Amino acid sequence: MQALLDLVRDVPDFPRPGIMFKDITPLLADAAAFAACIDALCEPWRGRDIGAVCGIESRGFIFGAAMARALGAGFVPLRKAGKLPPPVVGVDYGLEYGLDRLEIGTHAVAPGEKAVIVDDVLATGGTLEAARRLVERLGAEVVGASVAIELAGLNGRARWPGHVPLHVLIQS
Ligand code: 5GP
Repeated sequence: MQALLDLVRDVPDFPRPGIMFKDITPLLADAAAFAACIDALCEPWRGRDIGAVCGIESRGFIFGAAMARALGAGFVPLRKAGKLPPPVVGVDYGLEYGLDRLEIGTHAVAPGEKAVIVDDVLATGGTLEAARRLVERLGAEVVGASVAIELAGLNGRARWPGHVPLHVLIQS
């Protein structure tokens, strides 16, 4: 995992002053590293009859689509407000400054279907927790989440329910 971390670039003051942004694009561009990353993200969910991999816009789409293929599951995009055609359901959640909203197609997951949530980075944890609530609102069973990088200092993990597995590849 250290080799994967070495391919993540720290970008100071992006997208705003004071933010240290984790740029995952060098990792995505490295064929062996990307494949290893997808394998590792899938690892806890193999043989678990996962029906849906739910990726959070936008970098969660990249990992999530590859994971869905590897797990033999469907891919479901969780999108920012106004991007998906109706009918949708949405959830509002708090960011550091202001509010954001995630939406899912009303019929994108079935009641009782096993779903995994995927994103690239866990920061304050608001986005991942909103995604979990959204998928559960449609009656699917969120068996867990896979995240490539956890910014451990921000303690986003505290917002995720302790009884739901949270699989993280790299802590930074
Ligand atoms: P949170 O809601 O946990 O504060 O923020 C997580 C969301 O913001 C994720 O969807 C993630 O893609 C994005 N994010 C926050 N910080 C970073 C970062 O440093 N690098 C990248 N690539 N994404 C980030």
